[in-house]
Amino acid sequence: MAQNGTSVSIQDLSLNFGSVTVLETLNLDVAEGEFIVLLGPSGCGKSTLLNCIAGLLDVSEGRIFIKGMNVTWEEPKDRGIGMVFQSYALYPQMTVEKNLSFGLRVAGTPRDEIAKRIARAAEILQIEPLLQRKPAALSGGQRQRVAIGRALVRDVDVFLFDEPLSNLDAKLRAELRVEIKLLHRKLQNTMIYVTHDQIEAMTLADRIAVMKGGVIQQLDAPQTIYNRPVNRFVAGFLGSPA
Ligand code: ADP
Ligand code: MG
Repeated sequence: MAQNGTSVSIQDLSLNFGSVTVLETLNLDVAEGEFIVLLGPSGCGKSTLLNCIAGLLDVSEGRIFIKGMNVTWEEPKDRGIGMVFQSYALYPQMTVEKNLSFGLRVAGTPRDEIAKRIARAAEILQIEPLLQRKPAALSGGQRQRVAIGRALVRDVDVFLFDEPLSNLDAKLRAELRVEIKLLHRKLQNTMIYVTHDQIEAMTLADRIAVMKGGVIQQLDAPQTIYNRPVNRFVAGFLGSPA
């Protein structure tokens, strides 16, 4: 059972695709309000882990708790999480406003409540002037703000990000990195953020989980990992060039 103050607790989680083990007896406790970055090379299982937490993939073994509730077999929509993907996944035929309200309308949220939440999210993300546009008329950075907005309006406890900045150019990436950091300061919610980018990890994370081959190699504050990597892999991936 997760302790008080734990937001997401992953216990002995394994995931196999056929005979291939992609996550192996993985354990991770994320505190409420913590910003955790899952960092590792392509193919190490970051997205798979995030999709298990989101409920988009069934685990092979183990359990997942969110705020002390065993959600291992709960539907994604009942987990209190919002997910932001690299590819935005916006509905192209809908305006930004409709993209933001869609999930709320489906859930039967009252109209005035929807309007209130959209106004708040639009203000926080500075997308008020874009509300009547369609995704095709937005830049990559604007689309990603809308994608974050969709998680924001749902008022979820936990945000999951899967390489949200990978499709953006370097300048926008740096800009949005700062915005995501400010967003976290403002909301104080739990964030689990997947990237293979060391700078993103170092600047955003309270703690970084360095992954390799479906196993967490080290889970520590960025400075600790940088100064005291536990093995050669971590050192090579993120450690100081001592
Ligand atoms: P990452 O996000 O760290 O790049 P993934 O979680 O996407 O890695 O993938 C981890 C491993 O699982 C990779 O070896 C990948 O090829 C494999 N994999 C991912 N999805 C599937 C799937 N649906 N079927 C079979 N293998 C998969
Ligand atoms: Mg991935």
